[in-house]
Amino acid sequence: MKKRTEEIIELLRQTYLGADTELEYETPYQLLVATMMAAQSTDKQVNKVTRSLFADEGEPQAMVRLSQEELERKIGSVGLYRNKAKNILATSNILLEEHDGLVPMTLAELLKLPGVGRKTANVVLSNAFDIPAFAVDTHVFRTSRRLGLAEGSTPEKVEQELMRTFQRVDWKDAHHWLIFHGRRTCLARNPKCDICTLWDLCTSEDKSI
Ligand code: SF4
Repeated sequence: MKKRTEEIIELLRQTYLGADTELEYETPYQLLVATMMAAQSTDKQVNKVTRSLFADEGEPQAMVRLSQEELERKIGSVGLYRNKAKNILATSNILLEEHDGLVPMTLAELLKLPGVGRKTANVVLSNAFDIPAFAVDTHVFRTSRRLGLAEGSTPEKVEQELMRTFQRVDWKDAHHWLIFHGRRTCLARNPKCDICTLWDLCTSEDKSI
């Protein structure tokens, strides 16, 4: 079992070497906002929106000058934009009032921000601050369970398992390996098992011959 897990980790490493976030950002605040926008949308769509949004509102001081309606108009092409606009404005206000306009660097503080769940908080910690954290999104959840790297029934349980399975130094990269695997090969419906480099090691019921 241990050997199989090690082989899977090495193959993921080789297959997705250099995998990184596909969201475009220059500061922790921009990554936080982009990640908040990414639910129910593609990174490509989010990048399209944030490229023009961040040109004028790339920091909380400028963001809070927008009204809810103005921000909705700017991000209207991403899914759930009304709720996202509300959360982005509320979060930006809290950053200004309680954190000197900066993004906090702890999971507990990040989780207090409106619209920021565990996945978003962990993405910010690991990618913006290089603080070891394992963000579990829908792709990581699905692919790690299919590969037998985790069995948990919730993202939080899977996060705990993956933090035990992978070395701390690999947490950030492994998150990206599993996302790339889920987006490119191990698709939710009709996974491309015929081109999967992990086929020999996969024991998933979803695996096709
Ligand atoms: S063999 Fe199929 S189900 Fe298994 S990891 Fe590869 S793509 Fe996913």
